[in-house]
Amino acid sequence: MYLIENYTRLPVRFVRGEGVYLYDQEGKRYLDFLSGIAVCSLGHSHPKLTEAVCSQSKKLLHVSNLFENPWQEELARELIKEFWTEGRVFFCNSGTEANEAGIKLVRKFFRDRGEDRYRIITFRNGFHGRTYGSLSATAQEKFHEGFEPMLEGFDYAELNDINSVEKALSPKTAGIMLEVIQGEGGVNECEEEFLKELQELCREKGLLLIIDEVQTGTGRTGKFYGYQHYGLEPDIITLAKGLGGGVPIGAVIAREEVARHLTPGTHGSTFGGNALACVAGKVVVEEVKKLLPHVEEVGNYFKRKLEELGVGRVKGRGLMLGLELDRECKELVVRALEKGLVINCTAGKVLRFLPPLIVDKEHIDLAVKILKEII
Ligand SMILES: *Cc1c(COP(=O)(O)O)cnc(C)c1O
Repeated sequence: MYLIENYTRLPVRFVRGEGVYLYDQEGKRYLDFLSGIAVCSLGHSHPKLTEAVCSQSKKLLHVSNLFENPWQEELARELIKEFWTEGRVFFCNSGTEANEAGIKLVRKFFRDRGEDRYRIITFRNGFHGRTYGSLSATAQEKFHEGFEPMLEGFDYAELNDINSVEKALSPKTAGIMLEVIQGEGGVNECEEEFLKELQELCREKGLLLIIDEVQTGTGRTGKFYGYQHYGLEPDIITLAKGLGGGVPIGAVIAREEVARHLTPGTHGSTFGGNALACVAGKVVVEEVKKLLPHVEEVGNYFKRKLEELGVGRVKGRGLMLGLELDRECKELVVRALEKGLVINCTAGKVLRFLPPLIVDKEHIDLAVKILKEII
């Protein structure tokens, strides 16, 4: 009645959660294989996360970025430990904001060097967010419709097609930005060879490589950052979704030499990286680092079980998996919900699975059993 109707919401009211389970008003239990869209990486009501958030909220929630922020320092140190080289972190509140900061940083990097290079190549079916920079970077017309004109400076290429990237190149190209596994676009994996070619192209032409790790990051694919599967050396990566385990936080990590270009006053955020969010992030990062072998193991198990269903192509890695059907899957999401399984459908025909990283084989067996019944 009072809300803007920009979402189609399923008719269920969750009131609490525990581990991989959610409970509705009537006390009905659901297996959560969505995690609030890859957000609740440690599941629901994780004791350490709950404790950290409660105890921090009794001390300080927020002081702004006008003062020292030890909580950011600590979380940044943990994130940089996993990065391939020395780097620095800027904190914001969401994925789209992280990408905005990344886009601004690319432009500033070249502007400071007196070079007129600002264009960024992005990929069909990619998704980078809903604010104008990130939306313009998102090469899917359905998201642009009604909101044109888009921000100038993006050229679109085809995923896994290096020729299309070369065609999109111009003397004004500053960077290449992509997800190593496209999430919203249908769980589409980049081929290793293609990523190597992109990295090589970036080196050859002096372009910045920006990996959008908003969905693939924070352990989702079995490595802490998704790019680590492919041995990439990105200049900038962006994070959000799973990083706060449910508390909103986003981050941009940039290689030292690139990070230097966001000087005082050039970018900022009121809420970005406040005490509450960073304390949550730190617990998540510590726990996720311990969970990585588990994510890989149960991810492989889940993938095999989905393949055994024999109903469609299985895509993705770790606990970011998709099952591509030959028909629209919206209806199946409703049927799954009725049977107590929370999943999502993306790109029309792809059932998407993003369970909490703590999920076990028994939960996977149960989810697969429900899928078998409804497909
Ligand atoms: C979800 C998502 C975003 C946008 O994140 P918001 O927090 O919704 O702004 C950006 N990039 C990728 C890859 C995403 O999956």
